[in-house]
This record gives sequence, structure tokens and C-alpha cells, in this order.
Amino acid sequence: MKAIQIKSTGGPEVMELVDLPVPQPKSNEAVVKIKAAGVNFIDVYNREGRYKAPLPLVLGQEGAGTVIAVGSEVRGAAVGDPVAYTMSLGSYAEYAAVPAERLVKIPSGVSERDAAAVLLQGMTAHYLVYDTFPLKKGQTALIHAAAGGVGLLLVQMAHNLGARVIATVSTDEKAKLAREAGADDIILYTQADFETETKKLTSGKGVDVVYDSVGKTTFDKSLNVLRPRGMMALYGGSSGAVAPFDPLLLTQKGSLFLTRPSLGNYIATPQELQQRAGAVFGMIREGKLKLRVEHTYPLAQAQQAHRDLEGRKTTGKLLLLP
Ligand code: NDP
Repeated sequence: MKAIQIKSTGGPEVMELVDLPVPQPKSNEAVVKIKAAGVNFIDVYNREGRYKAPLPLVLGQEGAGTVIAVGSEVRGAAVGDPVAYTMSLGSYAEYAAVPAERLVKIPSGVSERDAAAVLLQGMTAHYLVYDTFPLKKGQTALIHAAAGGVGLLLVQMAHNLGARVIATVSTDEKAKLAREAGADDIILYTQADFETETKKLTSGKGVDVVYDSVGKTTFDKSLNVLRPRGMMALYGGSSGAVAPFDPLLLTQKGSLFLTRPSLGNYIATPQELQQRAGAVFGMIREGKLKLRVEHTYPLAQAQQAHRDLEGRKTTGKLLLLP
């Protein structure tokens, strides 16, 4: 089978198209024929070595397709099932062996492509607005990189909950998408100072929560725009990692809460995974969550997909189609 493998960490050029044997399932695994693999920023962290994983490594942590084989102890999945999964490495390939408890059956009304496009980023947006900081009607959220993969889903969910959404983006095209997704106010944070603008938009009161995936370049100012006892949900570092800092800063800025959540901890049990995935698929079936899958690439063009994602050239979801 064809797969995208890295033998050392580094830039997009370390990703190679290779031929590997089709994996055989261990007793607790299912083998999935991948129809679409999601491209996520976490794949960049794995490729760069920011997140450590043993090498050589087939990249990719999100896929959807059909089960073609199951191990002897697998009960919940059968050959022929349409499934999606995340948080298991190896989806940039034609086939992947996946622990069966990580699989989610794709319900009717949701295509395999949409399932691959929404599972990781949709469940991320879901835990951020329903669990990390349970957002309520009338509250105000600042959402950075609002036209990105997670961003567009987060804006829609926050809007659907009745919150006011202030969104940051880098271009006019991205601003239009964020507005269509339900953002009330847009700040072009590459042109205007988002701290000043957010304070103006909230009459100096600050926002209840910042959902910050940009990290290095936004973190300090994000703390400055929170109301007293507001929450900073730092869930990524697309611009780089945040430097270590003194917790007393949180006191000085108004007894703020800071969390650095990760999807893995919010789908830690099979029950929570099934519930969260079910909720996200439900939103798609009911038309409450719109997906934007504009960027699709053949597997062989994985390098280009990473260049586009890192180069801020993309909006919504990127998929590799093996
Ligand atoms: P995006 O589609 O959001 O792409 C990243 C976006 O970040 C860019 O489009 C760009 O938007 C913005 N950005 C700002 N500064 C930079 C920079 N210097 N370099 C690159 N991009 C920059 O990616 P994803 O939706 O895949 O992921 C978004 C973030 O969410 C990532 O940081 C990822 O790690 C994190 N994440 C965290 C999870 C968790 O559970 N903690 C789970 C899933 C994702 P603009 O041009 O508008 O500035």
C-alpha cells in the first residue's frame, strides 16, 4: 500500500511516499481502508518533532473508510462497517490498523468524507464550548484563527449556543467566512491590534473566554482582554509555543483561569468518545454544523498540504484522498 512516512523529523520535505505492507490487525484492532484522511496541525507537530513519536512513522491521526478485517477479540466492529477514527497514528495511508475502541460508526446521512473532515476538529470545538468553558447565551467569546479548521466549527457552535463571538482572522476572505459561520464582530489581527479592538467592542469589560489556538503571538494580549475570573483556553500553538510565565500574572490580570486542554483527555473513555462523536455527527445531520472542505489533495501531495496549512493559505478542513 502507499503511505506517507517520515524517517526523521523536519520540514515538509521529510514526508516520503513509500510502499508498505497492508497492516494485519492485532487481536484488539480493525484494519480500515481509508477513503479520506484529515490533515491537522497536530500532524505538523509530529512531523517537526514538537510532539514526540517513535520513527519511522506514518503520519496522520484522523481517517474514515471501511473496515476490511478485525482482530480475534474485536466485538464492536465488523467487516464492511463505515467508520471514522482519530487519535491513532497512521492515517496518511491506503490502510491503517486502528484499536477498535477508537472507531466510531458513521451514521447514515454523513458521508465518509465529511466524517473524516469533522471528527477531530468537530470534537475539539465541542469539548471547548461544552466542557472546558461551558459557554452560555449572552456570554462573549474571543476566537482566534476563526476561519481555520477548528475555528469555523467553534464559531458555529458558540453562535448556536447564543454567545456573542468576536473572531480574529488574517484576511478579508477569511473574515467573510467567519462572519458567515456566525461571528458577530471580526478583527483583522494582522492589521489592527486585537487587544485594543476587543476592549472597544466590550466597552472595556473584556470577554468571558478566549479560545486561543495561535499561541505564541496571541497569548499575552489574550490574557489582557479577559474579564476578571475569565478563562483562557489555550488549545494550540499554530504560531509557536507560549514561553514559560509566572502564575502570579494570572492574579494580577484578575484571578484568571488558564487551561491547556487536549482532545485526548476529553475522549478518554470509549463512552465519552461515542457520545461526543455522536453529538457532532448529529449536528451535521440536523444541518446545524456546516463543513468547509475546500482543500483536498491526493496522498502523494501531502507535502503541499502541510505547506499550505502552515503557510496560512487554507480555510476550513484539508483532506488527503488516498
Ligand atoms: P487551522 O486551519 O486553524 O490553521 C492554523 C491557522 O492559524 C492559520 O490558518 C492561521 O489563520 C492561524 N495562524 C496564526 N499565526 C500563524 C502562524 N504563524 N503560522 C501558521 N498559522 C497561523 O489549523 P487546525 O484547525 O488544524 O488547528 C488549529 C489549532 O488547533 C492548532 O494550533 C492545533 O494544534 C490546535 N488543535 C488543538 C487540539 C486540542 O485538543 N488541543 C485539537 C485540534 C487542534 P489566520 O491566517 O486567520 O491567522
